Amino acid sequence: MEHYVADWPAGFAPIHPADGQKVELNGFIGESTAKNICSIKKGFASPIGEPYRLLNSGQKLSGIHNRLAAESDLFKLIEGACYAYAQTKDPELLDLITENLDHILKHQDSDGFIRYPNRENLDKKYYHDLYIAGHYIEMSAAHHAATGDTRALSSACKWADALIKAMQDEADSFKDAGKKEHPELELALVRLFRATGEQKYLDFAEKIIDSYTLSNKISDLWIGSGRTHVVRTAYLLMGCAEFYLTTGNNRYLNYVQSLWEEICETRRYITGGFGYNEWFPLYPWFLPETGRIAETCGSIAMMMLGLRVHSINGYSDSRVYDVIENIFYNHFLGALNAEQDAIFYYNPIRVLPSVPEMLTLDNGKPVNSRTKLPAIHSCSCCFPNTWRFLAQLPDYIFSTDGSAAAVNMYTDSTATIDLKDGPAEIKVKTGYPFDETIEIEASRDIMLKLRIPGWCEGAYVESSNGVEQAASGSYKDVRTGGAKVRLVLPMIPRFVGASPLSAEGAGRVAAARGPLVYCYEVSNAEERAELYRIPLPQTPKLVPGTAHNLEVSAVKMNNGEGAYFTVCQKPAEECRITLTPFYQRGNHSSNEPGWITMFPAI
Ligand SMILES: [Zn+2]
Repeated sequence: MEHYVADWPAGFAPIHPADGQKVELNGFIGESTAKNICSIKKGFASPIGEPYRLLNSGQKLSGIHNRLAAESDLFKLIEGACYAYAQTKDPELLDLITENLDHILKHQDSDGFIRYPNRENLDKKYYHDLYIAGHYIEMSAAHHAATGDTRALSSACKWADALIKAMQDEADSFKDAGKKEHPELELALVRLFRATGEQKYLDFAEKIIDSYTLSNKISDLWIGSGRTHVVRTAYLLMGCAEFYLTTGNNRYLNYVQSLWEEICETRRYITGGFGYNEWFPLYPWFLPETGRIAETCGSIAMMMLGLRVHSINGYSDSRVYDVIENIFYNHFLGALNAEQDAIFYYNPIRVLPSVPEMLTLDNGKPVNSRTKLPAIHSCSCCFPNTWRFLAQLPDYIFSTDGSAAAVNMYTDSTATIDLKDGPAEIKVKTGYPFDETIEIEASRDIMLKLRIPGWCEGAYVESSNGVEQAASGSYKDVRTGGAKVRLVLPMIPRFVGASPLSAEGAGRVAAARGPLVYCYEVSNAEERAELYRIPLPQTPKLVPGTAHNLEVSAVKMNNGEGAYFTVCQKPAEECRITLTPFYQRGNHSSNEPGWITMFPAI
């Protein structure tokens, strides 16, 4: 296996992710990918892993197994397990993969379709058939690459052939696919083309992409039902990006670049969440902070898309990894609990325990409590997406243009990077995202490209060339000269303000340090976090001896009993409040917690 997902040919894009198979992750990110293996095994023991096993032992499926696109969750789980197996060669993972695949293959009919009970084939009620098949195909490519076993791949070809035939026969569901389906198949077909070399899968991918209404502007999109649904949009753009990366044909490239830009600049929450009611709002700067916002899958899909955009845009655009890092360290890790066996579906940036109607919108679960395995959400796409994303993360850390080795994300790690003049081994040592120093050692004299995040001012590099300043929001070229390189990314705590154009964010600030965004947590309904205002100017202070908390001065407002009150009627109460990293919220109490991320500034 070469690469987990970035196995497109080098050459059409300026840069290519380094081969994740040659990357060993430790440190902060490595801890998370290690916990992911345990979480994947727990996933197989949850209802996500059960359906075909139950069916083959003559048992009936229950309500939880009849959720929307339930089998696609199992396919994503197996896909993640295949990447994890490729990393670890853990025989328990291989047994789980093989056992589940054996059960699934018994349900492939002679026409090529793998069917699920109680569901019509090419179902015109839910329009998720192409999506489900897409996840099976992606899983089959991962399975083939990780194990060398061709059974899943050949069954995926039969399923894809059945869909091609259905389209040629003008099956009803294909007529409305672009208005109603859920993208995923396009990306999967491009991967199937790469795995098999069969041109028909690439041609089919192009036809499916063309059935959706793409545009350079979010407001003109129509991507399946949901129109601007976050996950649908990001998956389709991934298919478009991979079409280019695989063929060099740039017919969809404009959409990828302009929509990536518009989404990240005008539709992104401060924590890296996306979507209101699962859609990108049609108009910019509409970012409500609570309730049904920021589905976890939406952020995962945007990180996956970011990996492709990074390859396409090259090193002149360092903002792509600013976005990936913003999502990863805040929204994404914040969806998971500390053990990574519980997850939010919606992932709001503000929850007030005193507003109960906000608490019951997470597919029947409170939005401020995670669903813990073996329990799953009634729509359980998000957990399988975390499993497959974290297991493919080694592809995201390093990249290369052939001449230089770039470090995109900093964590303790070892990697072999294939450069034009031969392989080079790199060792990274750091306590990032909490510590500002990163040490990098290469096995020989090579050119490094070190990502300097957009949030970082005053970065500098110490190398055999002496000390050099490094510009914020760039890749800094550093010749190793065979010596250790030390990068310092000063992490001065700061406030981040929202655009004055943002309907909810205007006039409000959040505290941040390095890539981490902070929030104020409350664990009981009596404490009203929304009453705090932050007087500016001041700088948040790192609380010594704590788990990287920040302390700020705040003013507690007196609001009386009614909906409105006269400001300054009573003297405001000054106090100090402690902020915790957003990704750690909801881990500190078994009560229903609340939190606020953006504060009114005064
Ligand atoms: Zn989801």
